Amino acid sequence: MSFFNKATDPNKWKEKYLNLLDEQEQSEASCKKSEESYKEKEDLLCKTIIRLTIATTGLDPLLDPHLQGIRDQLKNGINSQALKDELEKFTTSVSQIKHTPPQSQSVETELLFDFLLQQYNTETQQNALRLLKKKTDTVKFETSNQLFIAILEAIEPDDDISTPTIIANHIDIGIVSRQLLLLLEGIEIPSIFDQQAQTAKQLLTAPNRTTTAFETILDKSFKLLLKIKQHSQSEQQDIDKFLSHITEQLAALDVSVLGASSAAIESAENRSKLDQSVSEQMEELKLSSTNATKLEPLKGVINNRLATIAKEIQEHNQKEAVQRQKTQQQLDDLVNKIKDMESESSDLKSKLKIANNQALRDTLTGLPNRNAYNERLEAELARWKRYHSPLSLIVWDIDHFKNINDSYGHKAGDKVLLLIAKQLSDHSRATDFISRFGGEEFTMLLPNTDSQSALIVANQLRQTIEKTGFNASGASVAITISCGITEFTLNDTDESAFERADQALYQAKEQGRNRCCIL
Ligand code: GH3
Ligand code: MG
Ligand code: MG
Repeated sequence: MSFFNKATDPNKWKEKYLNLLDEQEQSEASCKKSEESYKEKEDLLCKTIIRLTIATTGLDPLLDPHLQGIRDQLKNGINSQALKDELEKFTTSVSQIKHTPPQSQSVETELLFDFLLQQYNTETQQNALRLLKKKTDTVKFETSNQLFIAILEAIEPDDDISTPTIIANHIDIGIVSRQLLLLLEGIEIPSIFDQQAQTAKQLLTAPNRTTTAFETILDKSFKLLLKIKQHSQSEQQDIDKFLSHITEQLAALDVSVLGASSAAIESAENRSKLDQSVSEQMEELKLSSTNATKLEPLKGVINNRLATIAKEIQEHNQKEAVQRQKTQQQLDDLVNKIKDMESESSDLKSKLKIANNQALRDTLTGLPNRNAYNERLEAELARWKRYHSPLSLIVWDIDHFKNINDSYGHKAGDKVLLLIAKQLSDHSRATDFISRFGGEEFTMLLPNTDSQSALIVANQLRQTIEKTGFNASGASVAITISCGITEFTLNDTDESAFERADQALYQAKEQGRNRCCIL
């Protein structure tokens, strides 16, 4: 053997021996390490299993005793036969658990409690239900039937019902059936669930049921109640939607009422009555809506109210139309009366004007008469006194007028009067006021004119008339006129000035006629 080869260095034996010792030591350390690692893993596994059994306790009553057993056996180690037995029993129990589909129990439970709180409203029932609801947040009932029985107990706590956990296995079918029947009869069942509710009631009142059959009935009833709750929730949403629609309609209606009413002439009273009636109807609608739990009857109420409001608006509009027509007629009558009055007033004015004219005008020549002269003289004197501007008076008289009458007749004399009046009027200044003072005498008032200026005006007129002439019986007859002129002085009255002018006229006659004299 090569180990005992003499040719080998004795030091090498020693080295090999030491190496072998090292290897041996390392191998022992490694085994020790491996053992420690295994122990650690076993501890970890045990702890994990124990935690799992704690976490899964309560999931199913079949499993719970085995979970406790597993925990107990784990204390003896993971390799014990007792643990293996226990695990086998556990596996068998797991295979016996009925598969129940996962459901959102918390949501359904929430809905169920909301629904029940609405149905049962005594203080005791409400408190008991709220307590139970709170309890379901932390403790899950193993089956819906257990929860349901707990609810029944909360609703009628005096009844002799055992605790939910016990009753799960020993249900007093009679008591539970009665409670369930009371519940189904106590709630408002929408018509679409009538058939299902009827069937549930029949099943609940049927005799000789087994516990298993009864559990099925309970389950069905429970689901029916949830469906009713969901239905009433969706119906409430429909009601809300419908109400907001109605509110919009009513708002539009109110606007149209306002619009219709604003056109009315005398509808304040009618409008106020309508407003009151509409707001009463709307108040009642609001009340009906607030108390409404079902859509169809509410729709009926609202439609009736709307029909009433529409009818009232129609009546109101009709009344307004009649009133408007009546008022329009009255207004037309009034307008016609005013027109008549205006026409009468206008007639009266023109008659008055004519009368005035007649009173102030000379009928033969159309010139202002003596009255008009007096009126005008008064005004001119007032102005003269105020402004101290000169004011002159001319008094005209036809020369030998008596001869004309005598020679050609009175009518010819009238024509001469007309002719002279026209010439005086046509050739005098716009500011000068001419009147037929009487007979064949004419006067002229000349504002802002002194006696010398008046003389110039007067001579021009006199010459114009002289040139005119008059045709009588085919022959041309000369007509002349004379005048006396005076200017108003400070101490003058209308009479004193006239007298002076008349004296000047007398002088003109005396001096041979067809002339103008100033005094
Ligand atoms: P003298 O130059 O001095 O004024 O002379 P005379 O003829 O004009 O004098 P007198 O004043 O005496 O005459 C006036 C006449 O005028 C008398 C009257 O018959 C006439 N007469 C007065 N008014 C009218 C009238 O309206 N129509 C006519 N045709 N004649 C009238
Ligand atoms: Mg005369
Ligand atoms: Mg004369």
